[in-house]
Amino acid sequence: MGDSSPNRPNYLKFLDRHDPAGRIAAMLRLLDGCRVCPRNCGVNRLKDERGFCRTGRLALVASHCVHHGEEPAISGSRGSGTIFFGNCNLRCLFCQNRQISQGNDTGEEQGPWQIADMMLELQRKGAHNINFVSPTHVAPQMAEAIVVAAGRGLRIPIVYNSNGYESVEMLRLLRGFVDIYMPDMKYGDDESAELCSFAPGYVHSAQAALVEMRRAVGHLRLDGMGVARNGLLVRHLVLPNDMAGSRDVLRFIRRVIGRETSISLMSQYFPSHKAAGHQLLGRPVRAGEYAGVLDEMDRLGLDGWIQELQSSAYYRPDFEGDHPFEG
Ligand code: SF4
Repeated sequence: MGDSSPNRPNYLKFLDRHDPAGRIAAMLRLLDGCRVCPRNCGVNRLKDERGFCRTGRLALVASHCVHHGEEPAISGSRGSGTIFFGNCNLRCLFCQNRQISQGNDTGEEQGPWQIADMMLELQRKGAHNINFVSPTHVAPQMAEAIVVAAGRGLRIPIVYNSNGYESVEMLRLLRGFVDIYMPDMKYGDDESAELCSFAPGYVHSAQAALVEMRRAVGHLRLDGMGVARNGLLVRHLVLPNDMAGSRDVLRFIRRVIGRETSISLMSQYFPSHKAAGHQLLGRPVRAGEYAGVLDEMDRLGLDGWIQELQSSAYYRPDFEGDHPFEG
């Protein structure tokens, strides 16, 4: 019998009750004729064929470290154990992680045992949680690593920190493996999503993903120290010229996901990568634009973490150094 403590992570409770082999096998089948994300590329990643995300059978890990710059509920006092996957299923013109996300194969292919080693190392270093960054295109590989790490003594919650362009079929298979979902809701209209991230049908996919995530883990719950134990935290990055459709995003969350939803509203946008010089994306967010979004959040009665406008000055990770957030 496993520990029945309410603070016991979901994946341990799940593994107490189930043999994960069937679920993992079903996830791996999604890699054969890949439909792990809404792009449905159809390539056989079990044979190392590559689709839009340019990732084969094994996950690429670009970096792992204890990170103190996430939301207070995720970083807490001891930091979050981040594992950054390489490559991505989006191509955002303004990507701040462009060194590792744009299909340039930064990092090394790692199997489940090697990823589990990283997870256990981060736990030993005192991290509050394991924070998988950009896991969508390697969700089956992530689940394999969770099973191995749990068997070897992992005891801290799992955070799924994603861009929101998800397959509901994949998310349903992940039920029980994740404690905290921290997806972006990047856009409120598909035209912007296509233009800025080459993501057809983003809005429907992200909306359906949020519904499934809330169903799987509920609203965010914190421990006595204010650190997340489980639940949903939705991130939204405000873009210049309202390219993110911020009001529509907030209204959807209020209407469908619920007023209790924890939101992280971010102002840290800066025109990096291909956004520099872009007609619509080539400048930071103005104070008046950000204030308008804050007003709407207030009007809707939504709550969460609000970045100060000058945040764009200090969020610039560098994945060529040993620690992406120190420079
Ligand atoms: S995970 Fe990659 S290969 Fe699979 S459907 Fe998405 S982009 Fe295509």
